[in-house]
Amino acid sequence: MNSARIRLMLIVLLGLSLPSFAQQLKINRIDPINWWVGMENPALQLMVHGEGIAEAKINLETYEGVTLQSITKVENPNYVFVNLLIGPQTKPGELKFYLKKNDVKQTVEYKLKAKEKVTPLTLTQKDVIYLIMPDRFSNGDLSNDKFADMADQEAERSNPWLRHGGDLQGIMNHFDYLKELGVTALWLNPVIENDQPQTNEGGNMRSAYHGYGFTDHYAIDRRLGGNAVYKEFVAKAHENDLKVIQDAVYNHVGINHYIVQDLPMKSWLNQWPEYTNTSYKEQAVLDPNASEYDRKVMSDGWFMPFLPDLNQRNPYVAKYLIQHAIWTVQNFGIDAYRIDTYMYNDMDFMNACNAALKAEFPEIFLFGESLASPVPNVAAFVQNNLKLDFACNLESTVDYQLHSNILKALNEENGWHEGANRVYETLVQDYLYQNPEKLVTYLDNHDEHRFFSVVGEDYRKFKLGLTWLMTMRGIPELYYGTEILTKNFKNPTDAEVRKDFPGGWPGDQVNKFNRNERTQTENQTFDFLKKLIAVRKTQSAVFQGSFKQFTPFDNGVYVYFRIDGDEIVMVASNTSAESKTFETSRFSEIIDFKKATAIDLLTDQELNNISSIQLEAFEAKILKIND
Ligand code: CA
Repeated sequence: MNSARIRLMLIVLLGLSLPSFAQQLKINRIDPINWWVGMENPALQLMVHGEGIAEAKINLETYEGVTLQSITKVENPNYVFVNLLIGPQTKPGELKFYLKKNDVKQTVEYKLKAKEKVTPLTLTQKDVIYLIMPDRFSNGDLSNDKFADMADQEAERSNPWLRHGGDLQGIMNHFDYLKELGVTALWLNPVIENDQPQTNEGGNMRSAYHGYGFTDHYAIDRRLGGNAVYKEFVAKAHENDLKVIQDAVYNHVGINHYIVQDLPMKSWLNQWPEYTNTSYKEQAVLDPNASEYDRKVMSDGWFMPFLPDLNQRNPYVAKYLIQHAIWTVQNFGIDAYRIDTYMYNDMDFMNACNAALKAEFPEIFLFGESLASPVPNVAAFVQNNLKLDFACNLESTVDYQLHSNILKALNEENGWHEGANRVYETLVQDYLYQNPEKLVTYLDNHDEHRFFSVVGEDYRKFKLGLTWLMTMRGIPELYYGTEILTKNFKNPTDAEVRKDFPGGWPGDQVNKFNRNERTQTENQTFDFLKKLIAVRKTQSAVFQGSFKQFTPFDNGVYVYFRIDGDEIVMVASNTSAESKTFETSRFSEIIDFKKATAIDLLTDQELNNISSIQLEAFEAKILKIND
């Protein structure tokens, strides 16, 4: 092999762009960076990016099982799209493309790997999700905090808007802590490269530490550890019985992405004569009376000026995104995708993407971020029982309405529609969802005020909300730090709810991963959550039982049951500021409460008489009922 050939292979394999020289065709990238034989879908579209590549003649060396269907040129001569069919019996190996432009000839190799069996671990109601912002949890590798060749070269913990150096190794270092708490699935905010410059937002320079502006779909951010460490992360998580949820962003990319810097075609992005932000009004997508203007602004307006909006109606864009989604699952072995800004995507594209993922990996769990109001609008963006112009095939979504109604319920007086009735009425609307038990429920996340602050630092309300979360239908999500009673409002910015986990950095004054360094209240909170999670995971009534609720009564008493055959768990809650005692005769359709006994699952106390139940102000009890 001559040196020019070796050099070219390096360029292709490493994705580097070396300076072009006279006798060389310059290929910057081929995406996907590799593929596999034996995939469900035999079609593969390679996007080849290189200076003037469209002027080259491209041939594929004969490879048994592989058919070169077409080569498509587009507006920008720096791109060609190569359509291949990979037959079911094809052997792994290297495809060889022969390129010829004028008198320059070159060979480019492309790897078809052997396909390892990837079976995602589906999420169920038995799971408890723990959400981590990787930059803010723990710094396990000080050598990757910043890189001189990246657009943002700073890492500075004293600045809330800059990168702090947290990484995948830091999370791996604390798998034992997470297992002790009992969570079963880790959702990380995006791990894909964000080689974005700092941006001026509200007068402050901010980094893309949150990860929502991809600049290279095929690279895990080096500051988090890079591709090899992420692969190790997923494998180690699985060894520790922790599932991995990746944050997918299809709607937009970072402005520094090469597909934006050198657009394949104008229609790659949703273009506007002048900058147009999305209205964030999802109602326009659903409204049968909506103007085309409002629909277009909602879907095609940009989420932020530095997050260009992808035109998913463009079939090349759709293919690019879908193939990457599949590549990620096959390459890293992740279990689920949380899909960012779901409502802002093109709905036909999303259905195609979800279906393509499910075709390759039937077990993969997919849930969207649809922060819509009221409940039917959330239901519209997931498999539902509505009759709309489009039918979403997405199996799950975050339950934004249960989230916001729990927060309201705990902060207002009880009334006909207020207090406990808000929660009750939200759950009444489960008839809108095909699979309400699959909804991802939560009290807070990286975009919300910390729950403890929202309830005015009232520890009784804090416990009540968490008890609901961990015993209702759905798959609960906890935001990192909740277990040590982390508080804060997003004031002045969301950085206030994304603080470093104390002890996650070498030299931190206090290490709250360590029980001995936590306060008594923090340990009480950790133990309370640990107990709730254990209830969630061990009581079949809670993790797979039916959900039956009773209309709130006595100005704030709210009772529901989880029932799995003979297993009955009763959750009795008091959303008022007064102590309440009530007779249980109204629940006699569940069991004869005159004879029944119970175990209080939070205190392990045995109750021999539950014909009446007393609850203190803002108290919730979880009772396992025995007949
Ligand atoms: Ca680091």
